[in-house]
Amino acid sequence: MELWQEMLRQSIDSGKDLVERFGFDTETAEKLNKFFHIRVNPYYMSLIRYPGDPIWRQCIPDAIELQDEHASEDPLNEEGDSPVKSITHRYPDRVLFLITSQCSMYCRFCTRKRKVSDSTKINSKYIQDGLAYIAAHPEVRDVIISGGDPLMVTDYALERVLAGLREIPHVEIIRIGTKMPCVLPQRITPKLCKMLKKYHPLYINTHFNHPWECTPEATRACSLLADAGIPLGNQAVLMKGVNDDPDIMLELHRKLLQMRVKPYYIYQADLTKGTNHFRTPVRVGLEIMDKLRGHTSGLAIPYYVIDAPGGGGKIPLLPQYVLGRNGKDIILRNFKYEIYTYPDVEDPTIEQHPVEQKYLRKRQNGRRKQVAIPDGADGNPENAEVLMRIEK
Ligand code: SF4
Repeated sequence: MELWQEMLRQSIDSGKDLVERFGFDTETAEKLNKFFHIRVNPYYMSLIRYPGDPIWRQCIPDAIELQDEHASEDPLNEEGDSPVKSITHRYPDRVLFLITSQCSMYCRFCTRKRKVSDSTKINSKYIQDGLAYIAAHPEVRDVIISGGDPLMVTDYALERVLAGLREIPHVEIIRIGTKMPCVLPQRITPKLCKMLKKYHPLYINTHFNHPWECTPEATRACSLLADAGIPLGNQAVLMKGVNDDPDIMLELHRKLLQMRVKPYYIYQADLTKGTNHFRTPVRVGLEIMDKLRGHTSGLAIPYYVIDAPGGGGKIPLLPQYVLGRNGKDIILRNFKYEIYTYPDVEDPTIEQHPVEQKYLRKRQNGRRKQVAIPDGADGNPENAEVLMRIEK
């Protein structure tokens, strides 16, 4: 048994553990464990500094999860885009391929609770069906292996999946989505990396949410993967009480770059059952992006996205940088909220928006004004406004 497997055996993983270690009453502990299985391995447990801290909130259940009754179990409608049980085929040229239901920690914010931790939902028959589906669809050039956590399977079992994919000529790239470098970095071994590097081009997306997760152990794990020639990206989830603070996100993204991990996404929290207490206003995400852009390396800037409810896919959101037009000039603001004009190429197809005209009239009058500019980030000018001080 490898070290990571031994550590997994020592995980907190029952309602009884919750009662004995954290003082839950028995009934609540059992309900929570039934609602979504509990698993916290000793490594991730060691990162907790105090009850209720950002690490605790991600892994220790909270009775409030049980109050979120009406939310969906599948808010992204993955099942609707699932031609066989292990595959979600939503975008034209790529598929999500689930190869296990198991994880080294069950994150309380998980969006795939309906499948994760239930070994009846993903088995070896479904994996064979997934390989057959991909082989039969020549438009699929990019396969994202996920779960559960795909690195929960043995090196041997994972290699069988990778080798199976590499036998399919139209599969160009393979991506693995895994939380292991963050939650159980001992899983990343030289032996695993030696196997993975046989299946390039191979990418790994990992899942750090808070700077306290960027430990020496995690750094070592990411270095092993990067030294095997595997580009690393990070997908963080924006969560109340975990990372809903621009300074925390700035620190996280700077640390990720030091670990050779490129920040890739910040996700707005999905509308998954039991996770309502993690949700933040979209405004918070936009403020975080505003704090990152210009204030740190461009390499550290991820996309902030909403995965559209019902299966619409990822939609990027940006703070408002384009304020309007003046004829062919574009009015912009920079990261310091200073206004600049960029002379665009003449484009007769562009009409001025009424609010832009209002802004320009006030600007031409040379008065010191506060002008409301619609925040196009959510597509609804009624919802949010960015107040800008416009000077002569
Ligand atoms: S590791 Fe991923 S799939 Fe597993 S519980 Fe956490 S978020 Fe869900």
